[in-house]
Amino acid sequence: MSAKEIFAEDAVLLGAFGVMMAVASAVESANRMKTGAARLLPRAILALNCLLATAAGTLAHAADCPGNPDALGTSRVLVVDPTEHPRVGTMQYGQTLPLKDHEVVLTFDDGPLPAKSNKVLAALAAQCVKATFFTIGKMATAYPDGVRKLREAGHTIGTHSESHPLSFNRMPVEQARQQINDGIAHTAAALGDPNAVAPFFRIPGLLRADGVEEYLASRGIMTWSADFPADDWRHITSAQVLHLALSRLEAKGKGILLLHDIQERTAAMLPTLLRELKSRGYHIVHVVPATPDRPKTATEPRDWLMHPDAAVASAWPAIPQFAFDQTAVLAAPDVINATHVLAAPQSELSAIGGRGRTVRIAHRFAADTVPLPPEPLWPRPAVGPVSLGADGLPAPDKTIFNLQGAEPRLTTGRNQHAQLDQHRDGATAERREAMASPAAPALRRRLPGSSPMLPGGLQRGRLAPG
Ligand SMILES: [Zn+2]
Repeated sequence: MSAKEIFAEDAVLLGAFGVMMAVASAVESANRMKTGAARLLPRAILALNCLLATAAGTLAHAADCPGNPDALGTSRVLVVDPTEHPRVGTMQYGQTLPLKDHEVVLTFDDGPLPAKSNKVLAALAAQCVKATFFTIGKMATAYPDGVRKLREAGHTIGTHSESHPLSFNRMPVEQARQQINDGIAHTAAALGDPNAVAPFFRIPGLLRADGVEEYLASRGIMTWSADFPADDWRHITSAQVLHLALSRLEAKGKGILLLHDIQERTAAMLPTLLRELKSRGYHIVHVVPATPDRPKTATEPRDWLMHPDAAVASAWPAIPQFAFDQTAVLAAPDVINATHVLAAPQSELSAIGGRGRTVRIAHRFAADTVPLPPEPLWPRPAVGPVSLGADGLPAPDKTIFNLQGAEPRLTTGRNQHAQLDQHRDGATAERREAMASPAAPALRRRLPGSSPMLPGGLQRGRLAPG
């Protein structure tokens, strides 16, 4: 399935909600004007949240989740610097987030769409789980309150273009820039604060292009792919989404899960997914961008690989880790084995590789007392008489070259070529000259009587660039 097909449903959904967006946008704009003071409160809460997270290194543990002592919680906050790691997600890139085994980052694309996104938010809140949302500019314009709810809940807000075109891989870079910038601007407008938008971007349909990634990197924006999806854009049941999410996570052991908060099937299965993650021993990691006041989490380069040890093993044959015994010297082999070699009949020794070599092998094995196997492991070579002429190899039969009209002779001399070519029908002076020239070594090696190798009219000339 192509990426275009994968996200085709996204595009349909976005188109269908286009009319609703315009209406909702007007309503929400009016609400925003009335509640300017109230807008400051969520920002203060978020700032406090981030401060506490940085200081403690963790967010809500299960025990800290009000009303849910068995909550999954958020085990830690990971602060990343997009300028150092511009692309993450092994679905497309060599690097991914520096997660430990059994750590998961939840991501939700294409929202906000309150009817569905609110259910997702409720499920996350019930388990005190923090996630990353990649919003669409037009959705943010249509449902600014939906974006603000993400921030009030303490989630990270990245962006996902202005209108989710499934053509980032082929559109002009200028157009991609516009899509990126408009999506960020309209999400920031909904939040009323450009700093509230994380420099995280996910390309619609994951339809990456070098120019797009380079532009994002030049702006200090991290391009997020994912480590595994759950196919929640397809027409499958929520149970199937749940199964795919868990099975793919189990296969990799950790990673970034790609979901869509605009999908009913995703909202429906999310409570179960979170409970399953808890019961299977997984931990949620909340990712936030580094800022001057919030330094990046210390990591090693290998932490940004999905399976660093596996990568090394596949890049080069693993060097075995030998476990040596306490004994410093290996036991000498049984002398009977060495005797076997020395006492072997000449016919068997010959099978090893000729008389002279056999003798050397036998002596060396006798000195080192290393045994040979009782029987050769390879088929014995057929040793037969080979008659070599005094001057060289025997001449091949002329029929194997399909020669006609000439004796099979291996000749390389200039004069011999000239003589032979004199017997050829239609051989011109130019051709003879070309054949004998230093620029035609292959021709000089050809067998007399074979097919002409030079097209007619070839002139003698220089082959090397001058
Ligand atoms: Zn999308």
